[in-house]
Amino acid sequence: MSIRAYGAHASDQPLVALDITRRATGPDDVRIDIAYCGVCHSDLHQVRAEWGGTLFPCVPGHEIVGKVAQVGSAVTGFKPGDLVGVGCIVDSCRQCAECADGLENYCDGMVGTYNGGTSDAPGHTLGGYAQAIVVDQRYVLRIRHPEADLAAVAPLLCAGITTWSPLRHWQVGPGRKVGVVGIGGLGHMGIKLAHALGAHVVAFTTSEGKREEARKLGADEVVVSRNEEEMAAQRNSLDFILNTVAAPHDLDAYLSLLRRDGTMALVGAPATPHPSPQVFNLIMKRRRLAGSLIGGIRETQEMLDFCAEHGITADIEMIRAEQINDAYERMLSGDVRYRFVIDNASLAD
Ligand code: NAP
Ligand code: ZN
Ligand code: ZN
Repeated sequence: MSIRAYGAHASDQPLVALDITRRATGPDDVRIDIAYCGVCHSDLHQVRAEWGGTLFPCVPGHEIVGKVAQVGSAVTGFKPGDLVGVGCIVDSCRQCAECADGLENYCDGMVGTYNGGTSDAPGHTLGGYAQAIVVDQRYVLRIRHPEADLAAVAPLLCAGITTWSPLRHWQVGPGRKVGVVGIGGLGHMGIKLAHALGAHVVAFTTSEGKREEARKLGADEVVVSRNEEEMAAQRNSLDFILNTVAAPHDLDAYLSLLRRDGTMALVGAPATPHPSPQVFNLIMKRRRLAGSLIGGIRETQEMLDFCAEHGITADIEMIRAEQINDAYERMLSGDVRYRFVIDNASLAD
């Protein structure tokens, strides 16, 4: 059955309306009518082939929420009408140590929600800028927020889990001072989640205009990183830094803010490398530079449940599908507070 989607035919082409097909609902499958899909900076990197390896046509979107339309005969956890989500992962090998640990995000056989390997047409996965999707029940998440919050829940499926996973892994909580660098889709969720986990949160932004807003998101302190005095005041003080910046920049400026044994985790994935940091900035205080990739299915469900319990959603601006090309330009210039979300009902018009 043909459905309407939005995607690009080539890396230098704008996104346009497309007709795509989804596989028939198999025994373990859940067919989901997509209500909303968040717009991640990774969508832009991927559809413009900034990371290389993009397969076309490319239909991005991995912050998917909607309602179950149909379930296969072996599906036990979901029924038609349930509110559900799909994040960045739609399959994995199910056999390796990472899969056994619930960390399918680190499985070599992980299948991304778009641009991943599949025998479904057209030979690679197509994402959430579409009316519907069919996903194995193991990779479908339950949403316990009120239905009225559904659009603002969508960004939790990538921006939420990508910040939650490192915050939990590096044990962010009461008594810990945590920096969040870059206040975009990921960064604004990082501030909300670190605050809700009880940490003292310092937001770092290049945008003077976000100074007051970051406090409302839950930051205890805000540093405009272009201000050298404000940066110097944070030296040797942070236990952990979550760096979400989508462009190459000077990592030393942030490494020097870590206290002894502190860690900076990179989640931003710029198209070109950061300048290499100074070795002395690491060895003098036994600092660590790390990375983190989205999160596993189990911890994504934990994050969604934590957010439902604490009333946490993303700050969003809703758009129609045909506004996506403008939305990308606005995201690049930092002109979004803080996540665009597509109203997938607009695909029907
Ligand atoms: P976004 O909404 O565009 O936010 C990025 C933020 O970085 C901007 O709002 C801006 O914040 C800051 N920034 C951008 N350009 C900058 C520059 N030249 N110098 C300094 N700061 C700059 O993007 P996003 O959706 O949050 O994604 C952020 C990055 O994470 C992307 O590279 C994306 O691909 C990646 N990502 C990685 C994972 C993972 O699993 N590791 C998952 C999802 C996304 P200020 O205005 O506050 O400075
Ligand atoms: Zn993403
Ligand atoms: Zn695996």
